[in-house]
Amino acid sequence: MSSCSSCSYFSPGLCSCGLSPVLRTSWTDANPGRRFWGCSCNFHLWHDPAVGDRAKNIIPGLLRKIQRLEEEMKRNRKKEKMLVFCLITTVVIIFVLLAVCVSMFI
Ligand SMILES: [Zn+2]
Repeated sequence: MSSCSSCSYFSPGLCSCGLSPVLRTSWTDANPGRRFWGCSCNFHLWHDPAVGDRAKNIIPGLLRKIQRLEEEMKRNRKKEKMLVFCLITTVVIIFVLLAVCVSMFI
C-alpha cells in the first residue's frame, strides 16, 4: 500500500474557541482544491501549500465544465424518461389498434 506525503494527519488541535477544527477543501477560484482547517468561529489554517498558477487557471474551468455536464445529464435523464413513456404509450396504442382490426375480421 502506498503512502501519501501530503496526506499527513496533522491537526491543529483544539481551536481557541474549544472546538476541533475540521479539514475542508476550498473550491474558490483563488484556491481550488486546497485543503484547510476551519472552525465555526472563523479560524482558518491552510493544510496544503498554495495552488500553482496553472492549477488556478485550469481547475475552476474544469469545475464549471463538470457542473454543465451534470446539468446536461439531468436534462437528458428527463428526456429519456419522456421517450420511454412515449414508446410504451405507442406500443399500447398499436396493440389496441391491432386488437380492433383483428376483431373486425373475425
Ligand atoms: Zn473555533
